[in-house]
Amino acid sequence: QPTVVVCMGMAGAGKTTFMQRIASHQFGKKETPYIINLDPAVTYSPFQSNIDIRDSVNYKKVMEEYNLGPNGGIMTSLNLFATKVDQVLGLLEKRAAPDPEDPSRKPMKHVLVDTPGQIEAFVWSASGTIFLDSLASSFPTVIAYVVDTPRANSTSTFMSNMLYACSILYKTKLPMIIVFNKTDVQDPSFVKEWMTDFDAFQAALDKEQSNNAFGGQDGVGSGYMGSLINSMSLMLEEFYSHLSVVNVSALEGSGIDDFFEAVKEKADEFRRDYQPELDRRR
Ligand code: GDP
Ligand code: MG
Repeated sequence: QPTVVVCMGMAGAGKTTFMQRIASHQFGKKETPYIINLDPAVTYSPFQSNIDIRDSVNYKKVMEEYNLGPNGGIMTSLNLFATKVDQVLGLLEKRAAPDPEDPSRKPMKHVLVDTPGQIEAFVWSASGTIFLDSLASSFPTVIAYVVDTPRANSTSTFMSNMLYACSILYKTKLPMIIVFNKTDVQDPSFVKEWMTDFDAFQAALDKEQSNNAFGGQDGVGSGYMGSLINSMSLMLEEFYSHLSVVNVSALEGSGIDDFFEAVKEKADEFRRDYQPELDRRR
């Protein structure tokens, strides 16, 4: 059975670049991944998709026809495409089974899914939920949450990013791998430190605070914000303990073997912990 990898992350985090990288890594291993593009608004895609939302909905036309802005256009395109989710699953199941006409064809190992740049349009929409639930009811499904590491290198942007990832975990209830991307331009060693050593995170917080003109007495380190951050850190510690974390450069290709190791781990976890829960709910 193939594992479905759904790439999510804030706009510009590098989802599409990462998709291209993991796809070509698979081709390099003589594995043919099955690629699904769910971003209706992407104008240039660096990879060939097996299923592309753009083949069935025209995002520009949808915007015109329904008088919508960019976000509404993405949501409506997703909704229109969600009516075809059965066909998508049918194609996947057909492709996952042996081909009677071509016994030499290897079963596919991974289904790779790219999602819209506007993450909230996917995570918080009914159609996004339909896609994820349908995929997860048929195949082990894991989330790759792609983070723009250079943009997460201050304590506040880091914490916001992790809280966002946590909300996605909570919403989707799927195993998650956090992919710290763009490590070619930002040394990611701070990530591990902050995720495993609360004192180190606290120290970084205090340091940023003292550099901040608005800091001091009423700043992040003290008062309401201080105790809020302390409580959130405790909660995040629990969140971190369920995650796989990998550092990659989608641009240069480092860390991709680690990523697929993590996918394997999380797919096993899906079968062990998530599948029984899903079956019970159905
Ligand atoms: P998406 O909106 O999440 O799909 O992000 P894209 O894949 O379109 O990438 C956004 C920008 O980040 C592009 O200019 C990419 O070239 C750049 N980018 C993506 N991955 C990397 C990386 O690993 N290193 C660097 N330096 N830039 C990257
Ligand atoms: Mg993209």
